[in-house]
Amino acid sequence: MRKLTENQIVLASHNKGKLKEITLLLKPFGITVISANELGLTEPEETENTYAGNARIKAHFAAKNSNKPALSDDSGFSVKILDGAPGVYSADWAETANGRNFSLAMEKVWNKVQYAEKPCKAKFCCTLCLAWPDGHDEIFEGSIHGEIAWPPRGDNGFGYDPMFIADGMNQTFGEMQPKDKHLISHRADAFNKLIKVFQKE
Ligand code: IMP
Repeated sequence: MRKLTENQIVLASHNKGKLKEITLLLKPFGITVISANELGLTEPEETENTYAGNARIKAHFAAKNSNKPALSDDSGFSVKILDGAPGVYSADWAETANGRNFSLAMEKVWNKVQYAEKPCKAKFCCTLCLAWPDGHDEIFEGSIHGEIAWPPRGDNGFGYDPMFIADGMNQTFGEMQPKDKHLISHRADAFNKLIKVFQKE
């Protein structure tokens, strides 16, 4: 596995929720994060149908255009009885003519599962891709399993957080304190694998 020798990376995402979470997760390792937005980078089209495929597109685009190592996160919410939907299309389910609306996206999910047997199993998945300007990359995957909560609860977090309760918890991700979500989330799981690239030995 290639190690990261720089102490600064570009975050290949325009998602404010992800930027906040990833900046906090990297801080203890002395890595500072510059957002793709700050560098004026555009967003490439996510044309793959897997998290890893889309994560690679975003990280390589940012690494080539900034000439710095770039980290991307492709993630999503999957419902078991919907064969994993919305999955890689989690952000698309929120699209409206006036931008993304996650209350609406959560309602779309609920409409499809409301009459199904409960608890309704769901999970969050996260794939991180660290890419270098020379074209090399490393991939790290994480997940967290749980069930659907309805109605949505809590204003912390982002996206589908208010409708997800992780196994063994009582609060939704939207109700949990961010520091507690960061200890167990799909992103934390992937990060625990990524940190090997920061360690010298
Ligand atoms: P993308 O990875 O930018 O294609 O978008 C992933 C989408 O999945 C986000 O816009 C969120 O809706 C959802 N998602 C990913 N991670 C989380 C999370 O930690 N909480 C809530 N929603 C998430």
